[in-house]
Amino acid sequence: MKLLKINNSDEKIEVGKLVCVGRNYAKHAEEMGNEIPEFPLIFLKPSSSLIHANESIIKPRNSGELHHEVELVLFIGKNIKNADEVLAEQAIYGYAVGLDMTLRDIQSELKKKGHPWTLAKVFDTSAVISDITLKKDYLLQGNEKIELSVNNEVKQSSTLDFMLFNAVQIVVYLSSKFTLERGDLIFTGTPEGVGAVNVGDEIFAAIQNIGKLKVKVE
Ligand code: MG
Repeated sequence: MKLLKINNSDEKIEVGKLVCVGRNYAKHAEEMGNEIPEFPLIFLKPSSSLIHANESIIKPRNSGELHHEVELVLFIGKNIKNADEVLAEQAIYGYAVGLDMTLRDIQSELKKKGHPWTLAKVFDTSAVISDITLKKDYLLQGNEKIELSVNNEVKQSSTLDFMLFNAVQIVVYLSSKFTLERGDLIFTGTPEGVGAVNVGDEIFAAIQNIGKLKVKVE
């Protein structure tokens, strides 16, 4: 059982499902040669893929191209189904900065075959999150800076207002398809600038006023 780490809270909340949004920044969709989606593009990671910032990303041996993707993560605090915008906002209890680590070479092969991306996204340590900042401590404005650097070199730098679907729109959409439960985490997509990391690299990621994380690749 994995527990979430929450700033200024002793509550023990078990990690639920990890729901991820793909292609949620136009320039990232472009850099990957993809069209801008009409609806959020959704995939899942198992909770077993999640690590916290003080752990290490273990690069799988079956891939030569492990990519970083920095993302805003939403922490769902109560169960919802078919939520409207008001309920969706109420169900978001907090935020974190996260990494959706991706085996890009394997994803490209799977996409070519028309197969699901699952095997490119689910390996152990493929999801990283910072401690969660609760909404009572900081309310998201939607224009915060989001940034990632590798070995002190900035690779991704954008602001959250470039998201094609914002936090509430994503939660409304997801809850129209399946129940969101307390402990679920939603990775909301990455801005442009994704790229490869290798064993020994150190990744630093931050979202203004939300959180930061540092993690090594082993
Ligand atoms: Mg992603």
